[in-house]
Amino acid sequence: MTAAPRRVPPARLAPSHPVSAIPGLGPSRAAALSAEGVATIADFLLRLPFRYEDRSRGREIASLPAGEPATIRARISGVRRSRMRRGGLRIEALADDGTGAVRVIWHNRYASFADALEKGPTAYLYGAAAPGPRGALQMENPETELEAPGEEADPLHTGRIVPIHRRAGGISPRHWRTLVKNALDGLAPGFRGATADGAALREALKRVHFPESLAEAAAARRVLAGEELFVLAARIEERRARLRSRRAPRLTIDAARLRTAAEALPFALTGAQKRAVSEIVGDLSTGVPMARLLQGDVGSGKTVVAGLAMLLAAKNGVQSALMAPTEILAEQHATSLAHLLTKAGVRLGLLTGRVRGAARTRLLAALSAGEIDVLVGTHALIEDPVRFRQLALVVVDEQHRFGVAHRAKLFRKGGSPHLLVMTATPIPRSLAWAIYGELDVSVLDEKPPGRTRVTTRVREESARERIVRFAAERVAAGERVYVVVPAIEPGPREVAAARQTLETILKIVPGLPAAVLHGRMKPEERSRVLSDFALGRIGVLVSTTVVEVGVDVPEATLMVVENAESFGLAQLHQLRGRVGRSHRRSWCALIVGETASPEARERMAILEGTDDGFLIAEKDLEARGPGDLLGSRQSGLPPLRVADPFRDLPRLREMRAEAARRRAAGVLSASDLFGYE
Ligand code: ADP
Ligand code: MG
Repeated sequence: MTAAPRRVPPARLAPSHPVSAIPGLGPSRAAALSAEGVATIADFLLRLPFRYEDRSRGREIASLPAGEPATIRARISGVRRSRMRRGGLRIEALADDGTGAVRVIWHNRYASFADALEKGPTAYLYGAAAPGPRGALQMENPETELEAPGEEADPLHTGRIVPIHRRAGGISPRHWRTLVKNALDGLAPGFRGATADGAALREALKRVHFPESLAEAAAARRVLAGEELFVLAARIEERRARLRSRRAPRLTIDAARLRTAAEALPFALTGAQKRAVSEIVGDLSTGVPMARLLQGDVGSGKTVVAGLAMLLAAKNGVQSALMAPTEILAEQHATSLAHLLTKAGVRLGLLTGRVRGAARTRLLAALSAGEIDVLVGTHALIEDPVRFRQLALVVVDEQHRFGVAHRAKLFRKGGSPHLLVMTATPIPRSLAWAIYGELDVSVLDEKPPGRTRVTTRVREESARERIVRFAAERVAAGERVYVVVPAIEPGPREVAAARQTLETILKIVPGLPAAVLHGRMKPEERSRVLSDFALGRIGVLVSTTVVEVGVDVPEATLMVVENAESFGLAQLHQLRGRVGRSHRRSWCALIVGETASPEARERMAILEGTDDGFLIAEKDLEARGPGDLLGSRQSGLPPLRVADPFRDLPRLREMRAEAARRRAAGVLSASDLFGYE
């Protein structure tokens, strides 16, 4: 891909320069690109082709096949122009390569294009030839590139493997390729790379955009992905180091105190819980802020672990906060923590949007006076008037509902409190490394004893009646049943779907104590329904996915999911986790809609065979891709542009080790391409 010397601008562009510096890009297009997030030359060049088209196979006109795209290199002659009805220019010419000639027609072209053709140039033409009105083959609107007289051609659009870029800024594919070439040619040598030198990265950029072969493109992509991942690794390590350079209250927790606390629990901790507690205790005593992720499948007993940590903080005379994603969950946590902690003398407070007026004032006053040890709540916890006397530990439940911004806000409340993040999303390790990069990870990979595996079956709609009758039997036996309606947008349709499902159920078993629960209900109404369900006044809860996270009703033994194919596997697994929370035998019926594809049915059958959340999450990722998992909303890290989160992330682990080594040695990991230093 050596370009003719006189077309090469002086190499002076840097990756950090604005796109407007690319030769051939006008100011309005440049502004449009910037508005779409393509602001710098690096942004522009890192929009890699999403596929390639092989236009390299040259053909002789004599053997040109009909209907099959091919590239020919031919001399242009006999140019004729005519006006089209809408005013555009129609151009006809003959292309002759010595073996034969073919008629070529272009529509809607400028006069300047016709002028250029009239000079009789040699052209690369890519397109499918088809029989014209008189039966002879002709090409319409082929991709055309003219070889300027006296100049060796350097085809961009034909006669090679052509990159296809995702469009932005209203720029045509052809113009985009030209701009890529201009940017690459103009790129100054010697920019800085973290894993390879600037020359090697520049070469990789050239090869990934204009490869000689697909293998070459893949190799170049690997080089760039390596650089990107290394920069990500270095950023994670930096955040980690920054976090650990802060001071946090040093909590003293001796073994005897820990034993007393554990013995006060109504059950013995599982081995996994013990391990997590001792990891947390270790963190709390160092004087450096803990930053730990507690990952455990639904029902693995995360709340207890957090409760113990908060108890130990209270014994040190400092305060803790537990933040839950919804009011329902905050209330549940408050109830179960009260169970665990009040006997030990821990003073608990609950703050949600529903605590108002004088009660709120009293609560806040007690909090700032240090008369509350543990405050449980929703987002209300991080609102401005909430003042702690000494906030030392923050527990965040179901992290994926909170953004990094929330976390930062909480940090501002209490200097640098210890942070424990709990999640039931079983993220494969490799992804957790990237998403929760600066956090240490404790895993609860063991369920409390006495849990039975939930018998799971994928069923057709024709089985609904039988399932509902079975539900009625469970209710008659003093158990509870969830029926989850399909995943649809929150709103009126969601409510209608829930009501309709309730009606269907009542038609099958009239008089069944059933009620609906959905996101549009007032918080008061929702928690009344939930507590009626917990108490058994309601036997069947027809719900939209608001039950998905955390609800804990041990008597629930049957989970029915309507249109199960509309959920992801991990989500279904979470839903299933609402049952099987006691020694009672439990069931999960996944009802698939008539229109579900065979693949969807097969995918759900995975749930019949396993209750390993990690395995399920991996299958889910394979099927659906990581989606927003790596989005900056959650991780605060830039989205990956080159690396494939699924295929490439396993490399991140080694890279983090290397990045940490370099940090320790004071070696800079600068990358001009990925904007890091
Ligand atoms: P998670 O939040 O991880 O889904 P929870 O903390 O809500 O799980 O615990 C689920 C249920 O298991 C709760 O009712 C809790 O009291 C109970 N539990 C937790 N740990 C144990 C244990 N070691 N032995 C018996 N039951 C436990
Ligand atoms: Mg929980």
